[in-house]
This record gives sequence, C-alpha cells and structure tokens, in this order.
Amino acid sequence: MYLRVFAALFVVAALGCNNAERTSDRAPAESASTRQPLAVQVAKPEAPAPQIVRTAVSVDALPQKDLAHTNILLITVDALRPDHLGCYGYPKPTSPNIDALAKDGVVFEHAMAPKGSTWPSLASILTGLYPVTHGVRYNGMNLDSKHDTLAEMVAPAGYTSAVFIANGGNQRWEGFEPRVPIKEEPRDPNLTNAALPWLDENADKKFFLWLHYFSPHGPYDPPKEFDTFTDPSYDGTIDGSYEMLTRVFVRQQDLSPADVAHVKGLYDGDISITDVEIGRVVEKVASLGLLNDTLIVISADHGEELYDHHKYFHHQASLYEGTLKVPLIIRLPGVVPAGKRVSQPVSHTDIVPTILELTGLPIPSNLHGMSLVPAWGDGTFERGPVFGEWGDKMLVIRTAQHKYIYNPSGFEPPVKRERNEVDPSVQRKNDHSIPMKKQELYEVLTDPKELKELSETSAEVISGLEQQLKAGYQDKWGWKLENKAEEKLQNELDDETRKELEAMGYVI
Ligand SMILES: [Zn+2]
Repeated sequence: MYLRVFAALFVVAALGCNNAERTSDRAPAESASTRQPLAVQVAKPEAPAPQIVRTAVSVDALPQKDLAHTNILLITVDALRPDHLGCYGYPKPTSPNIDALAKDGVVFEHAMAPKGSTWPSLASILTGLYPVTHGVRYNGMNLDSKHDTLAEMVAPAGYTSAVFIANGGNQRWEGFEPRVPIKEEPRDPNLTNAALPWLDENADKKFFLWLHYFSPHGPYDPPKEFDTFTDPSYDGTIDGSYEMLTRVFVRQQDLSPADVAHVKGLYDGDISITDVEIGRVVEKVASLGLLNDTLIVISADHGEELYDHHKYFHHQASLYEGTLKVPLIIRLPGVVPAGKRVSQPVSHTDIVPTILELTGLPIPSNLHGMSLVPAWGDGTFERGPVFGEWGDKMLVIRTAQHKYIYNPSGFEPPVKRERNEVDPSVQRKNDHSIPMKKQELYEVLTDPKELKELSETSAEVISGLEQQLKAGYQDKWGWKLENKAEEKLQNELDDETRKELEAMGYVI
C-alpha cells in the first residue's frame, strides 16, 4: 500500500526535478525517461493513496504512542553527500525514495561526522561517543567491547538486532546477531536481498535492523541503467576510477567544469542505486504492516570531497564540509513531525540518545551526544558546538557560524593510496597529502563551500573556539597531540583487514 504513496510522492518529485533540470546542463528528457523504471517499480499511481495515520503531535513532549513497541531501522550510506539528495535541494532526481521518507520526518541540515573515515564514524553513530573516547581513530581499529553499541543498549528492552554491512572489513560490532558482511558485487542489491528475508523472519519481534549501503563510495561506476546523470555528449577523458581521480590529485590537475560534472554525474548514478535499495527495504517494512511502528533513521558515515578543495575527490584525508557533513533524516509518524527542518549543527553522537528517547529507553549519562527530540520543539533547543578529529593530529569545532580546524603540528593528512600509483616524474611538495595550515577558520554560515580562510584576521573568534575545544575535546575527553592512535592501529591490524582496506585505498 505504501508503494502508492511513494508513487504519488515520486511523481511530484520528478515533475519538480524536471523543472529544475531545464536550467541544468543535461538533457531533461533523457533524465526523466531513464528515471521512469524507478517510478514504475514503486508506483501504481492510478490506485487511491491510503492515508498514513499521522497524529498532530505536541512537539513539547512525546505523544501517547506506544514507544515500547517501536522497531528501529538505521540506514547508513557510505560517502553520501547530503547536497546530492533531492530533500537537501539537489535539482537532479537521485533520491526519490529517501526524499519521500524525509518528507514524512525531520531533516537535519547540518549533521556532522566526527571524521571522514568509515569505521570511526560508524563507531560514533553506534555508541554516541566521539572517536577520542570510543577509540576507533582509524579504519581497521575495532571497537573495544567495554563500549556498548546501540544494539547492546537496546537488548535489555527485548530488541533483536542484526546488521548487514556492505563496506567489507572485519568490524566486530557487538550486539548484532547476525552480523553479515556483504562483499559480493553488486553489493547494495545483495545487501537488500540478504536483509529482506531477515525482516520476514523477525517481523513479529521487536527489532533493530542496521543496514550500511556502499554504492556512492568510489570508484564511481554505475551500470548503464543507473548512469543517467552524466551528459551523454561529454567527450573528455576523466572517469570515476580510483586511478584516474588519484592521478588528478597527485598531479594537481585542473579539470574543466564538464570534467567535474561528469564525475559528479557518475557519483549521482551510484547514489540512485542505493536509493532504489532503500525503497525496496521500505516497501518490505510497509508490506509487513510495520511502517508506522518503525523508527527510520538515515545518515551517512561521511560525505565526499568531490574536488571542492585541493583537487581531491575522496574523503579520508579531508576535514571540509563536503566530507564531514552528512544527511540525517528521522521518521516516526505520530511522534516525529513531518516536514520539519533543523538548521543547527548536530553530530553523529546524537543519533544514539535520540533513538533511545524515541523508543522510550534510558539514555546513559556518559554519552557525548544529546537527544535531538527537543530540536523539533519550541525553538529553545541549543545543541552547542559539535566536534571532529583527525586521529590524534587535528581537531575540528563546528558551530552554526564557524568551522575551525586546530592543527598544532601543521600535520598534512596523507593520501597514501597514491604512493603506489604516483608518476615518479611528478615532483611536488604535497604529492601525497592534503596541504593544511596550523589553523583554518571558515565562516560556514555565509561561506558554506569554505572558500575564504579567515585565520589570519580573526584571532578573537579563534580564541573563543579554541577555548570551547579545550573545554570539551581536550580537558573533558582527554585528546592529546601524539602518535599513539596510529601506532595502536599498526599493532592491531590483521592481514585480512589490511588487504581489504588497501583495496579501498584506506591504510594509514
Ligand atoms: Zn565510508
């Protein structure tokens, strides 16, 4: 039944997007026609749309819904930039299924990952703690069992938890049974294929299902049927392979607007693969009659740089907005108001306490994040600054107005994959790392693309932000400038994990 609602929403979204497309550089007719199969998959527009029961809620308090029977569906997507989704204003129809969920819930416009790396960020999503405390500072480090995952926190309330995760690796997320790594291509459809039978089998239980999709992660290479966001007349030589984009970075190659648009079009095609898969999962939950009793949270582990700074496309070595900003959408009809948008910066660490409150469970007092339920309240919600880090080398503080990167040793994040691929004839100081200053300040409120670095003229602002960083991340949680996290990684990393991370370009 819900599919029909999707259908109506998608038709509206598609119409809106076609209008927007007319001002873009790609042919709208082709875009619309190639997106049609998605609409057909999730659409029977001629059928009457059923009413989704949605109580008008008082936002000051959670309504009288029986939260004790609420299922949890957490969907994280690897390397998904919010500004490439329709619900965040993107004019191309990359995400009709995500957009439909967003329309029913609350959209956080400035949700921040603590690091542009998968494992550290997923650990923050799962624990409500920043990396400095949960200890997963780099990809390849496992969460210490002394830190509870959300699955462990909700287990005493009778939840059955499972995770299907498509980014490979041997991450030992505890409390999930089964814990299914999906490594066979195409990973995202295979992930859904594995998760749907689990949903069937566990529909009569109270469940927490976590799905981690992977398609937007590089290389950007959508199959033909999803390659609908590139300009067919593009005749340049740039593609979305790691090797190509690595070369662009190493050689600091100037790309034309058409080249960059082409790479972004490929990335968009990969997003649309994941979006279809999310639609399949929602369709299953709806067919089981559980859609309005299931809290749906959608986010990403991090975004993607996409040539915004230093001619870098990927994410691990970046602390800029394209990389640290993630989507965050929360949907629970009757409890979470539809159509609300929150502009204050919030953090991955807020996801655990928010889910706990929305399922009527107690929030442990040691978490770094806070419940976002008051964010859709009476307007008095004050989240305060959110933080990020690059291991034990750099810190980030993000307020509504500013982003400040504190880099006391002048560290330059390595892009080590390039080591094996670099053209030896290229001699440049920063061939293999992102050049960073010791301090970088941006007024993100007025300069969201971080084009104007302000540290030399804003000593007072920096002093205030450093005090907040010191009070939180350093004094309270014990961050220190040192090399211990990296040493720990090198000691702990097993061969299989190292191989998998190297295959994705991620070994420190
Ligand atoms: Zn990732």
